Amino acid sequence: MAPAPSECVRVVVRCRPLNERETAEGRQRIVEIDVAAASVALRPPGGAPGGNGADAGAHQQRAFTFDAAFDWASTQAEVYENAAAAIVNSVLQGYNGTVFAYGQTGTGKTHTMEGAAADAGAAGIIPRAFDHIFGAIEGSEGKQYLVRASFLEIYNEEVRDLLSKSPKERLELKEHKDTGVYVKGLNAFVVKSVAEIRAVLEVGKKNRSVGATLMNQDSSRSHSVFTITVECIEQGPASDGHIRVGKLNLVDLAGSERQAKTGATGDRLKEATKINLSLSALGNVISALVDSRSGHIPYRDSKLTRLLQDSLGGNTKTVMVANIGPADWSHDETLSTLRYANRAKNI
Ligand code: ADP
Ligand code: MG
Repeated sequence: MAPAPSECVRVVVRCRPLNERETAEGRQRIVEIDVAAASVALRPPGGAPGGNGADAGAHQQRAFTFDAAFDWASTQAEVYENAAAAIVNSVLQGYNGTVFAYGQTGTGKTHTMEGAAADAGAAGIIPRAFDHIFGAIEGSEGKQYLVRASFLEIYNEEVRDLLSKSPKERLELKEHKDTGVYVKGLNAFVVKSVAEIRAVLEVGKKNRSVGATLMNQDSSRSHSVFTITVECIEQGPASDGHIRVGKLNLVDLAGSERQAKTGATGDRLKEATKINLSLSALGNVISALVDSRSGHIPYRDSKLTRLLQDSLGGNTKTVMVANIGPADWSHDETLSTLRYANRAKNI
C-alpha cells in the first residue's frame, strides 16, 4: 500500500546562530526554539526579551510546530540524521527522494546542504549523503550498484548544466511517455567512489560561480539541484534481473527574500518575479501533496516542480529544511519563511 500523503513530506526548521555582525550591532534574538516540542516562536522586534505579558507586542508572538526544529546549537550530524538519512536509505532501496533547503539569503541553506568541505564535522547533507551511499554499497553483498551524478541550476526559469563545458547553454525539459520528464542533453557521470562524486560536486560549484560571473548573475537567485541516481541489481541465482532505480535530489533553493524591499528594477525585478513564482509553485505542489483532498498537483507551473515531478509525491520522500535567522532585523522574512514552511506541513 502506498504511504499516506502525510507521511511523505516532512518539514523541519533550522535557525542559525547570531552572526558576528548581528552581535556587534547588538541585535536582539527574536526566535525561540523548543527542540523537544519541535516548535518555533517568533517575537515581534522591539518586544521585551523573554516575552513579558505586559509588553505591547506580546500578543503578536507567533508560534509554529514542525516535524523537527533545530536551534543554533544543532550540529550538521544531527540535521543529517533527522532530515536526510531516511531519504537516502529509501533511495538505496529504489525510491526517489528530495531534500530542499528554503530560506532568505544568509540563513544557512548552503551551510545545511554543503557545509564546509574542509572540516568533516561541518560537512552538510550533500557530502554526508555521499559517504552514506558509498558506505552502504561497500557493505552490501550480492548486489551490484551503478551510481550517477548530475548537477544543474535553474536561473530565471532556464535550466543549465553545471557539469557542461558551455555554462551559457540553456537546456530543455522534455517528457518521455514511459520515463517521464528529463533534461535533454544533461550530463550524468558514473561515479565509483566518494572521491569521484566529490570531484563532480566541486566541478559543478566552480562552473556555477564562473558562469554566474560571466553572465552577471547572483547565485543566490538560482536553484541548484544535485541529483544522485542509484541503480541496483541483485546478483546470483535468486536474482530476478530486475533493476531498482532510486533518485536523490538535493536542492539549494534561491533566496526567498521578497525583492520589493530592495527596490529592484529592470532585469533584477524580472528575476525576482520568477524566483517568487517558482518558490510559490513549489509551495503549492507541496501543500497539494500534503492535503489528501486535493486531486490535482500543479507540477507544471514551474521548471523546478516539473523537473522534480517524479520525486515529489507518490512513493517518494520529501524533506523541506526551512532556514531562518535569529535576529530582529529579519523578522518579516523569518515570519514569511515560517508561514511558507507551515503551509507545506501536514495538517
Ligand atoms: P544561504 O546559503 O542561505 O545564503 P549560507 O549557508 O551561505 O546561507 O550561510 C550564511 C553564513 O552563515 C555562512 O557564513 C555560514 O557559514 C553561516 N551559517 C549558516 N548557518 C550556520 C549554522 N547553523 N551554524 C554556524 N554558521 C552558520
Ligand atoms: Mg547559499
